[in-house]
Amino acid sequence: MNARPKKSFGQHFLHDQRYIHQIVSMMAPQREDVVVEIGPGEGALTLPLLKAAGKLTAIELDTDLIPGLQARAAGVGELQIIHADVLKVDFTALAKNLGVPRLRIAGNLPYYISSPILFHCVDHFDAIQDLHFMLQKEVVDRMAAEPGSKVYGRLSVMLQLACRVEPLFDVPPEAFRPPPKVESSVVRLLPLSTEQKHDADPAHVYAVVKAAFAQRRKTLSNALKQLLDGDAIRRADVDPKARAETLAPADFVRLAKIYSTQSQT
Ligand code: SAM
Repeated sequence: MNARPKKSFGQHFLHDQRYIHQIVSMMAPQREDVVVEIGPGEGALTLPLLKAAGKLTAIELDTDLIPGLQARAAGVGELQIIHADVLKVDFTALAKNLGVPRLRIAGNLPYYISSPILFHCVDHFDAIQDLHFMLQKEVVDRMAAEPGSKVYGRLSVMLQLACRVEPLFDVPPEAFRPPPKVESSVVRLLPLSTEQKHDADPAHVYAVVKAAFAQRRKTLSNALKQLLDGDAIRRADVDPKARAETLAPADFVRLAKIYSTQSQT
């Protein structure tokens, strides 16, 4: 244990057993689950998860950590380590290879790429049952923010259109080695089912949300003027004088649908 943590890999190893236990009990892995961990590090979460589930697939970029992990897992359960950048791992193909429709994903994420990892997972939500992540508290606050909140923005809307966001508990810097400069939080994400998901064109939703929040102080008629005029915004049942930060995720879906009909003509 106790390798020197590498800053370039975003390594902050969790050592406080209370939080490790809390994460594992919130996730409550079962023997039939197929659990995938992103960034196992020295195995703080890996070993208790492996013990509960019996088998686990871990994705780790730092080669130096792999022999130690393998050694520690011996006798605990069946650990498969994929040495790769998680952003290059196709979770849909991985679920298929592991013979299950949907994976359960966990991770104390490397904070330097937490948003890219989140959106990479969103791209594979059809193959994911749930996700339990440690992230910067500030990111979890933005993910879960509601309309009208100062931190409600692109991340809140795009995630809430794809999953249920459940903040679980906060974790102080002292729980890690070395302590990060920020507070952390554990969050649960539950991908929406096909029936719960919106049926608008995802590229158009993205375009509308991006434009609306690019100038969040401006009215929608101003911020969206390249995409929709005032009448089109009203046709989506949205006030053109409103600002993006006051709109619910469903309002953006209606705006995207009007944008789609316009783009076809
Ligand atoms: N799970 C361990 C714990 O809780 O103590 C380590 C967490 S540490 C914050 C993040 C881990 O992600 C490190 O082990 C790091 O090497 C790994 N990592 C960093 N970038 C990665 C990437 N692109 N793909 C996979 N793993 C990565």
